[in-house]
Amino acid sequence: MKNNQFSGSIILLVEDEEALAKGLEYNLTEEGYHVVWAKDGKQALDLVRTKEFDLIILDIMLPYFDGFEVTRLVREKSPEIPILMLTAKTSVDDKIHGLALGADDYMTKPFHLQELLVRVKGMLKRKMWYKKVTTAQPVYRFGDNEINFENLKARSGKQQFQLTTVEAMLLKYLIENKGKIVSRKELLENVWNITSEIETRTVDNFIVRLRKFFEPTQAEPIYFKSIRSAGYMFVGE
Ligand code: CA
Repeated sequence: MKNNQFSGSIILLVEDEEALAKGLEYNLTEEGYHVVWAKDGKQALDLVRTKEFDLIILDIMLPYFDGFEVTRLVREKSPEIPILMLTAKTSVDDKIHGLALGADDYMTKPFHLQELLVRVKGMLKRKMWYKKVTTAQPVYRFGDNEINFENLKARSGKQQFQLTTVEAMLLKYLIENKGKIVSRKELLENVWNITSEIETRTVDNFIVRLRKFFEPTQAEPIYFKSIRSAGYMFVGE
């Protein structure tokens, strides 16, 4: 077994292709993770209701409930659990749809095993970082908005909603760097733990979601500003 600081983390693997599932299970176990395999959406939901998991790896095309439906139902009860979605298609729509429902990251099949292991570790690391930084100041207010970083509940005016971990982490990072320009690359490295230049669209999609939540007028953002060719900047009160 390799030296892994997240050794012992419990991963729910939801994948109906048995050969792929077994291969992933083997390699994740080699890394020190404890893997529970669900072969369809129904089994996955039953497991999430009865057990605690540190992370979910979730295929989209599944019997009974597909990955989108599973994400939506998991998010109702567990907003904080990291979800890595596996998409068979390279459809951008699928990715955006998955992220909008609350998946934290996605990979397109076929993927490289090493890449998946890096993503998994990154997501677990993020979860730990998030736990550390939120205990200091759990509630943050700006304008008519309020964010509780502990239970991930947010409010904008009278509208209440639930944030996912990545949304909350992105907010936390932007707020900690209030008044400073942060580049997409910096956000990918610190919030997503990804160093690739290709995934900058991910950042943009998430910023769109934050604006939808917190901006009085989405088209004219006053809090989450775009800085042309540089990145984004959170402007507080
Ligand atoms: Ca499948």
